[in-house]
Amino acid sequence: MTRRAVVIGAGLAGMLAAAALSGATDEVIVLDRDDLPDKPEHRKGLPQGRHAHLLMAGGLAAMEGLVPGVDMRRHLLDAGAHELSLGSGMLALTPEGWFRRWRHESPRMFACSRALLDWAVRDAVLTHTKVEVRRATVVELTGDAGRVDGVRVSSADGDTSLEADFVVDASGRGSRVTHWLGGLGVTGVKERTVDSGLVNATRVYRTPEGAERFPLTVLQADPYAGRPGRSGMILPIEGGRWMVSLAGTRGGEPPADPDGFLRYALDLPDPIVGRLVSGAQPLTDVHISRSTSNSRRYLEKAREWPEGFVALGDAVATFNPAYGQGMAVAALGARVLDDEIRRGGLGADGLARRVQRGVARSVEAAWAMAVGQDVWYPRTRGGRPSVADRLVTRYSRRLTRAATGSYEAAAALWDITSLTAGPERLFRPGTLLAVLNGPLLPALEGPPLTEGERDVLRALDRTP
Ligand SMILES: Cc1cc2nc3c(=O)[nH]c(=O)nc-3n(C[C@H](O)[C@H](O)[C@H](O)COP(=O)(O)OP(=O)(O)OC[C@H]3O[C@@H](n4cnc5c(N)ncnc54)[C@H](O)[C@@H]3O)c2cc1C
Repeated sequence: MTRRAVVIGAGLAGMLAAAALSGATDEVIVLDRDDLPDKPEHRKGLPQGRHAHLLMAGGLAAMEGLVPGVDMRRHLLDAGAHELSLGSGMLALTPEGWFRRWRHESPRMFACSRALLDWAVRDAVLTHTKVEVRRATVVELTGDAGRVDGVRVSSADGDTSLEADFVVDASGRGSRVTHWLGGLGVTGVKERTVDSGLVNATRVYRTPEGAERFPLTVLQADPYAGRPGRSGMILPIEGGRWMVSLAGTRGGEPPADPDGFLRYALDLPDPIVGRLVSGAQPLTDVHISRSTSNSRRYLEKAREWPEGFVALGDAVATFNPAYGQGMAVAALGARVLDDEIRRGGLGADGLARRVQRGVARSVEAAWAMAVGQDVWYPRTRGGRPSVADRLVTRYSRRLTRAATGSYEAAAALWDITSLTAGPERLFRPGTLLAVLNGPLLPALEGPPLTEGERDVLRALDRTP
């Protein structure tokens, strides 16, 4: 008998899950409601694709080995992604001051358009496995509370059912998983939303001549100042372009008109983003996104869970994009699925439940990081700082302050934000000592630019 897996959604979580399933089944069918482009192009079903996406090192590490025979780092670099060092390739202003740039080794980040990343991963999976993608919208799961045995789909050919031995929901933030499970009799799944009301505004520019090696520039929002958070970022992407994303929480939202966009960038706690883009040539309009809340479905806590079904990626949890974690968490979830399949085979009893619990564990660190900061914004809905939040925040702010002038502290922070280490990294003796000692070097008064970068900034600056 043919063993078939069906994956709902051909985004990052879906394609990586399909790769994980391909070795354990005869057939993997990925269903997406969208028409998938055969080159790196924006598509309707991925509205967030217009905005800056950084892939953290922990996400890339989880992706390595999922697609047989593909060195994912090499594949992304060949496709045009930039590899940036967290320690030396970034200018970052935090609520505690500017980070220094260190020559030492540090985790890497990958910068490219979301269209390129998704296309490159999809291409790798479709070229190196027997996974097949079909255009169809899934409307419900079939089966019962004990086992999911397929999906009902709606497509250009009408409504049909597709049987499957295993189904993965990777349909993203708008997933109807709770409703679908309810239809099978699996009820009582708790959900939580913590919403800072963040609005993202993004515009793409041509990278100015001479600025090709200018570092990734990030001005982080300050959750602790008692006012709306405002942030800005210049991300180098493929094709000689800068993706410039501005973001503000409720009450501090960036505007969509080009003049307002520039003014907003210049009014950030440091004007560097505004000064750089004031002399750069825009290639697009300003695009706005409001789908930015932290939302979590506690599927792993459901009293009963059907065999043959798991949910991954944004279908389980979404994060304020300012923390750049969603794709890495999606990859970690696919890795959990892969590990469990390798351990006991796809037919092992209780596999789906174990995967769902493992996925929840891989969500935890990113969730704590995002929600632990967002609850401090004055107009956040869905959560206020608890006693535990206050304690953790006091410690993490001291760590960040220490990281502005201590390599040991900076290295701990990089490991945590890039999801290459879990929260236990915060409490290693070396980290504790670095936090106690605080910054060993004096605070920087401005961005740590090289002479050449200062020239680039001066040459681009058109502000009065
Ligand atoms: C503004 C913004 C910026 C972000 N920046 C970052 C960042 O810097 N770094 C980072 O790691 N993350 C970032 N994220 C988060 C990241 O976009 C998501 O975490 C990631 O897309 C999750 O992947 P996914 O595969 O779970 O879902 P998606 O990428 O949303 O894919 C879901 C897929 O399912 C399909 N689909 C939906 N419903 C159905 C259905 N019923 N039937 C068939 N197909 C269906 C859709 O067409 C889509 O292709 C950002 C998010 C936003 C909103």
